[in-house]
Amino acid sequence: MNSVSGGKVVVLTGGVGGAKLVLGLAQILPPEQIVAIVNTGDDFRHLGLWISPDLDTLLYTLSGKANATQGWGREGETWQFMSALRSLGGEGWFQLGDGDLALHVLRTAALAQGETLSTITQRFGADWNVGVRMLPMSDDPVATHLTTDEGDLPFQRYFVERRCVPRVSSIRFEGAERARAAPGVAQALRDTGTRAILIAPSNPYLSVDPILAIPEIRQALREASAPIVAISPIVGGKAVKGPTAKLMEELGIEVSPAAVAAHYGELLDGMIFDRRDPVGESTLPRLSIDTLMVTLEDRVRVASAALQLADRLAE
Ligand code: GDP
Repeated sequence: MNSVSGGKVVVLTGGVGGAKLVLGLAQILPPEQIVAIVNTGDDFRHLGLWISPDLDTLLYTLSGKANATQGWGREGETWQFMSALRSLGGEGWFQLGDGDLALHVLRTAALAQGETLSTITQRFGADWNVGVRMLPMSDDPVATHLTTDEGDLPFQRYFVERRCVPRVSSIRFEGAERARAAPGVAQALRDTGTRAILIAPSNPYLSVDPILAIPEIRQALREASAPIVAISPIVGGKAVKGPTAKLMEELGIEVSPAAVAAHYGELLDGMIFDRRDPVGESTLPRLSIDTLMVTLEDRVRVASAALQLADRLAE
């Protein structure tokens, strides 16, 4: 592999964990050098609106609008819409803030006019001065479904309405096999000018696997000349947030970065472990660092380590 200094850094990402890494990268690289390929398996239609939670988390995070304490949605959000909705007996399980709603209404209207999710996302990014190029993994619908002890649940019913309580026995990504990668996705991965491909510390099973389930993306990753480095979402044997560890237990997988590395298998060239975790039998090139990202400095530290390992692998 050849080191491509100044080349693009491509990140496969879900929502919160991935947005932390991308924000860190954006502090050390010109944002135009960063391409985020974002999971859309969580996307769904609700009250007639098309909602893309992971794209929105990236958009809010990179434009400085994210609600840091809540971990989703916008800072300073108001809730008039939800209270009016509830007063009329509307479904209240999925929270839609007033500002958030504007995004979903505009996206839905643009989709109905025949615009693609890619171009809409690009437009929103430009309107809010997000320099990072955000690409949905696909413009075709892909829907994550979970088989659970409460039956088949679409992703948001499991994640939001049932708060990840049901026990999961399998996960599938409806539509992924026939979905095309969105414009620019396969090119960014294959480009010989790409410096590194990073797999964000996102949920491997719910946020990264839907991306990998698109045949064109998997193929482009296999053919990529840039080193592929994953950052562990497991810190000290636990998930920082969300159901990653619970899911791993239910699927009979050891909760460790080594198991995450094994899950990505031969796609990976290197892995960032958290220094709290054992490296086990993994022989993968790695760095063990503190991967917990609380402050902006932490985000920069993790992003720098991932680039350092990728550059070492490219030498
Ligand atoms: P979602 O789509 O919003 O659920 O978010 P992601 O899938 O992108 O991120 C969820 C994953 O991010 C969980 O597995 C967390 O353990 C991981 N995560 C969140 N914050 C951190 C962090 O600061 N460091 C590391 N290493 N992982 C994190």
